[in-house]
Amino acid sequence: MPKQQSSSKPLDTFRLSLPTPAGDLQAEISVPTSFIPVSDIVPLMRSLGEQALKLEEVKVQQAGQTISCRKGCGACCRVLVPVSPPEAFTLKKRIEQLPASQRNRYFQRLVTVKDTLSKAGLLGRLVQLSETRTQLSDKDMEPVNQAYYAQRLPCIFLEDEACSIYDFRPAACREYLVTSPAEFCQDMTDPAVKPVSVPFRIATVLSLMWAKLTGGPARLIPLPVALDWADRHADENQSYETGGTLLEMGLEKILAFLRQRS
Ligand code: SF4
Repeated sequence: MPKQQSSSKPLDTFRLSLPTPAGDLQAEISVPTSFIPVSDIVPLMRSLGEQALKLEEVKVQQAGQTISCRKGCGACCRVLVPVSPPEAFTLKKRIEQLPASQRNRYFQRLVTVKDTLSKAGLLGRLVQLSETRTQLSDKDMEPVNQAYYAQRLPCIFLEDEACSIYDFRPAACREYLVTSPAEFCQDMTDPAVKPVSVPFRIATVLSLMWAKLTGGPARLIPLPVALDWADRHADENQSYETGGTLLEMGLEKILAFLRQRS
């Protein structure tokens, strides 16, 4: 049962227990009782994803393996990162709050990245993917993922091989950990690269929530075109629901993921 808390913004608090393959994820979560846009629940959903992945990390460590990922290794920051619509809005908002010099660095890199993608015939395809009305499978995405990775384009937020937007990096970036030696990640297509299994993908969960709220497809937007997408669709971040309803919706999608895996 939710309990009411004294706060300037009234909150409902829920105790959760999610049965992940690596053990039960126990969490106490507070959400506003008021109506909020779906993008406001992004940090909370990412945090649930991170807690579930933590359980997986403990499991692999107990099996005698080590996570190789360290700050200063940005080898995986050259793949095409999928971003859910709520995350695209959050990213845009957070970037707008940064100092102008930092924002400009990102925008300058974005111009270069788009130019390279355009010359490689990929920019139009990424924009098309961000606007498609069809829900695409991992298999559908494979050719474009491969063509993008072949360019070895560093993410515009990568600085000195570290993420410069670490606190608000997309969920997909939080879900990539490997137990194989770090040098193997110089070629992410190498079958010797061993990623830690992910119990549920938060970008997909948020995308499915978005689809339910808007009646559109569960789209995932490629990161290089996510800020443009958020600009074009700014008025769509108006799907307000109570914090409790959004949380319930997110948990429903997470549980569906977990059922598939069991
Ligand atoms: S957002 Fe950060 S973690 Fe994600 S690909 Fe870019 S630099 Fe890497």
